[in-house]
Amino acid sequence: MTNVGRDTEEIIADMYEVSVEAVVKAGLSMKQMSSWGIGMPSYVNPKTHLLVRANNFGWVNLPIIDYLKKYTDLDIYIDNDANCAALGETLAGVAKDYNDTLMLTIGTGLGGGIIMDKKIYSGSDKMGAELGHTKLVYDGIRCSCGQKGCAESYCSTTALVRQMREALEEDKKTLVWRLCDMDLSKIDGKMIFSAAYQNDILALKIINQFVDYLSYALSSFITIFRPEVVIIGGGLAESGDLLFDLLKTKTYENTFAAKEIGIPESVPAKLGNDAGIIGAALLQLHSDKR
Ligand SMILES: [Zn+2]
Repeated sequence: MTNVGRDTEEIIADMYEVSVEAVVKAGLSMKQMSSWGIGMPSYVNPKTHLLVRANNFGWVNLPIIDYLKKYTDLDIYIDNDANCAALGETLAGVAKDYNDTLMLTIGTGLGGGIIMDKKIYSGSDKMGAELGHTKLVYDGIRCSCGQKGCAESYCSTTALVRQMREALEEDKKTLVWRLCDMDLSKIDGKMIFSAAYQNDILALKIINQFVDYLSYALSSFITIFRPEVVIIGGGLAESGDLLFDLLKTKTYENTFAAKEIGIPESVPAKLGNDAGIIGAALLQLHSDKR
């Protein structure tokens, strides 16, 4: 655990320590390593070499490379954790037979990663591919980033739970109301899908609406990038066929020229948290130096 609120030096020291532990656990030594790859919920600006912003840690424009260099002479590679997860799944996970992939991680937020020719694509300044903060609804809900109408505000697990709570304000004749013991704060994505699998009409309606939003966002990403496969990660990726069948049907309906050229399949990620770790470890071979 990161233990947010601690001193920066302490967090960086822990980052090094867990890396060494992983190397030792693999029966290797740091001397045998060729680089140090790190996935962060942020970006390093390639011009200033500063970590732009990591809200969870309260870091803004942090000279992270200077901090890390105190521990090692290895080349250091840092990328956004969602990009690292997409790279990991593409090199070693569910999409290892593909070169061009797109990953959406549906969790508290909506993370995204674009892999082209087995390398992370993140734009000219390395700060693109923020798929969760592309705009989905004009003048929509205020997002955690400060903007309005971002895809994340409609397609994250947080958004699904909010949509369910709003529906429950109007109609309590639903299995979810019983599953949460009449306490709205107990509702989570798994509970909503569980109710839907038991044919609860309100849960099915909310999931249907949620996948409407998700398929709208995904159809835009497919239209721009045309990946070979779409990887869906995060807790909701374990929701089973209900999510994936609906997503397939709706994305086909919403995507440009789907009838003529088809759409890529959406598949659940399979590496879990390891995807980001594997992707970060392989950044040296699959990204530009930071
Ligand atoms: Zn946003």
